[in-house]
Formats: sequence, structure tokens, C-alpha cells
Amino acid sequence: MTVAVHLENVHKTYNNIPVVNDLSFTINAGEMFGLLGPNGAGKSTTIRMLTTLTKPTQGQIEIFGYNVVSQPILAKQCLGVVLQAISVDGDLTVWENMELHGRLHHIGNPQRQRLIDQWLEYVELATRRNSLVKTLSGGMKRRLQIARALLHQPQILFLDEPTVGLDPQTRRRLWEIIRDLNKQGMTMLLTTHYMDEVEYLCDAFGAGKPGRIGIMDNGKLISLGTLQELRFAHGEGLVMKQVGERWEYVFFPTLEDANLYLNQQQDKTGMMVRPSNLEDIFVELTGRKLD
Ligand code: ADP
Repeated sequence: MTVAVHLENVHKTYNNIPVVNDLSFTINAGEMFGLLGPNGAGKSTTIRMLTTLTKPTQGQIEIFGYNVVSQPILAKQCLGVVLQAISVDGDLTVWENMELHGRLHHIGNPQRQRLIDQWLEYVELATRRNSLVKTLSGGMKRRLQIARALLHQPQILFLDEPTVGLDPQTRRRLWEIIRDLNKQGMTMLLTTHYMDEVEYLCDAFGAGKPGRIGIMDNGKLISLGTLQELRFAHGEGLVMKQVGERWEYVFFPTLEDANLYLNQQQDKTGMMVRPSNLEDIFVELTGRKLD
């Protein structure tokens, strides 16, 4: 199995404050990996270190075997990145943005034009190739960022909060693209603070194989596994009880165990049983809800 990403005891400190704190994990080639955490957890900083944009204060990071600090050019050739801020140039056309990126990566013609055509077609922007980017919608700009990130044929794509600020339909379309790219074999690491995003993208049903979810909080990785593994570890069944305005809940290993517990209660008022979900696990781990 080829290792796509390897982090070992990675730290990042700003003004003596640890922002990423002893992060270690490995992603295999072809995996879909979702890094979930609230704002300020250190997700973007992690992506910035993985993509050579900022150096770790301590620790080792390798992308397809290349060290991001000592071999940044080789590491960069393997990766594509879609950052949170829209980084395409609004005063250039769609094609000009692609052409510029292709030239920066020294992709010769006619291959460059073939790849530009191929990826613009793929993200459904071929008919907008001569439009100025500032005239595109937010979703189109995101799709252009993805097409551009794929132009130099990377082996892994990093996406930092790819659907922030997009309407539900546009989000769905982007999710389909992300999932389809993964199905074609592209390794994916995306960060998000949306539960539904990781649940959808790391779901075994649609993707063919389940992706893994890393839950990050306060710069640390506090849980890692497929959704099924996380549910198994924390309990697949949940008994909820309404106490005044609040819901109290208890995890049980299985839904059956949760039902058994409920059936044993004399007074079942305000109580219910349901399967646990990612949000329950997140709240259990951090004591907080995501916004
Ligand atoms: P996330 O992506 O999970 O929202 P970030 O990685 O953006 O988290 O930020 C984690 C923490 O690091 C935040 O408290 C943020 O203010 C701080 N931080 C990020 N970049 C810098 C920087 N360049 N200088 C100082 N602090 C920073």
C-alpha cells in the first residue's frame, strides 16, 4: 500500500501558542480523508504545512515519500490544493487562469491545452472559458479552483473547507465532484466543520469504500477512523432523555442494548432510543456542538 501522507509528531506554534499539537497520522493512496473540527482547531494550519505553505515548528511530514521541508518542489509536484480563500484571478478569464497555472508548472503544449480542455469540461466550465472570473458565481469559482489544482496531474488533492458559503445545491454538486475524483483513484484530504459533509463524503455506500474521519480539536487529533469504527468505539445505540430544555444521553454498545435499557425503565417519559451519529460522538468527545 503506497503511503500518500505521513505526519509524525507535528507541532506548529505561533507566538509560543501551540496551534497544532503533536499530530501523527498516515493516509494511504486512494483514501478519502476528512479532517473535522470546529473553527480554530488547527485544520487550515495543518493543510498549510502539508502543502509546504508553512513550515512545521517540529516533526516530520512526507507527501508520497517526499519531505515537505527538505524536498518541497518534489512534494508540490504530487499535490494539488484548493484553499479556503478564492485564489483564482478575477481579472483574468477562466482559460487564462488555467493557462497561467499550467505555465507555472512548466506543462508544455499541446498537452497543456488538452489538460485545460479536459478539466474545464470535467467541472462543467468549458462554455465559460472566455468569461472573466469575476463574473462567475461562487460555486463556479470553486470548480475552477479544483480544475486548476488538477492541471498538473497531482496524486493527492487537499481541499480546505471546500463548501463554505455555498448554497445547498452547489455544495451537493461539489460533493459529487470530490467523490467522483476519489472513485477515479485520487487521494483526498479535506477539512470541514460540517458534519454532513464528512458523513456524506466518507460514507461507504456512495464511495464504494468508507473514508476515514479525523476529529481535531485544540490542535490535537482526538479520534480517527471510519464512521462505523467511530460509532463502534463510542457506542452504536443512544438513549436520550429530555430533562427540562436539555437532552441528556447515554451511549450503549448496540441499538439492542439501548432498547433493552429503555424497556427496563419504569418511567419512560421523555426518553427515546436512536442510532448514534457523528454529531453525538463529536459532542461526547469535545463537550461542544459544531456551529
Ligand atoms: P481552523 O482551520 O481549524 O479553523 P486554523 O488552523 O485556521 O484553524 O487556526 C488555528 C489557530 O491558529 C487559531 O487560533 C488561529 O487564530 C491561529 N493562527 C492561524 N494562523 C496564524 C498565524 N499566521 N499567526 C498567528 N496565529 C495563527
